[in-house]
Amino acid sequence: MTEPKALVAGNWKMNGLTASKQEIEKLNSMISENGANCDVLICPPATIIGLLSGNGIEIGAQDCHMKVSGAHTGDISALMLKDLGCHYVIVGHSERRSDHGESNDMVKSKAAAAQEQGLTAIICVGETDDERENGEALDVVTSQIKESIPEEAVAKNTVVAYEPVWAIGTGKTPTVDDVAEVHSVIRNLLMDRFGDEGASVRILYGGSVKASNAHELMSVSNVNGALVGGASLKAEDFYGIIATYQ
Ligand code: PEP
Repeated sequence: MTEPKALVAGNWKMNGLTASKQEIEKLNSMISENGANCDVLICPPATIIGLLSGNGIEIGAQDCHMKVSGAHTGDISALMLKDLGCHYVIVGHSERRSDHGESNDMVKSKAAAAQEQGLTAIICVGETDDERENGEALDVVTSQIKESIPEEAVAKNTVVAYEPVWAIGTGKTPTVDDVAEVHSVIRNLLMDRFGDEGASVRILYGGSVKASNAHELMSVSNVNGALVGGASLKAEDFYGIIATYQ
């Protein structure tokens, strides 16, 4: 099976106002002028998904509720995201796991809710600093993968993002050998889970990716793109990462 087409996804987190539409327009013109040999996605805050959709860049979400509708004040369902034109939603980001106490079980329910609506779930996994120091990184990632991917998931509606928690927003990155080791373990788990189709699931690396280190990180075996936080906020910075795939 051939390598999946790379996906470079931006996670804006709690950043972005209505004026951010200009950034999306800028990114769209950079891609139109210079090309992009990968899929490109921006996941802005939910408040501006509707505003940014339909401007040439695929717009996704950062989270969804596990239910379709009901008495869940402040929450947003996958059906609502689909209604806004989203095709992707990030679930289980480490900041949701830590800020909102999201367990693997909750992440699995959210991913299932997204996939039931026809969305692709970008399921995030990754070890903490202490877990890596204690030699537990592979075990942690293995349980997160096994416990966070829904039973009904298929290869086509699943993306995995490996994001070591200690590399997010810190400027620190794992060595290419460490990235290769974890991504190879994830690939094997996906092959066990989905059979041959497991080869087509995109495994993104995330954690302090920027234009200057993207080439090295994106060249690692079984790295099929990036999930980018800080460096996705400005079109020029983000395009520098996208251009790795020219
Ligand atoms: C993220 O939050 O998904 C992320 C990878 O952040 P950063 O690129 O800023 O480390």
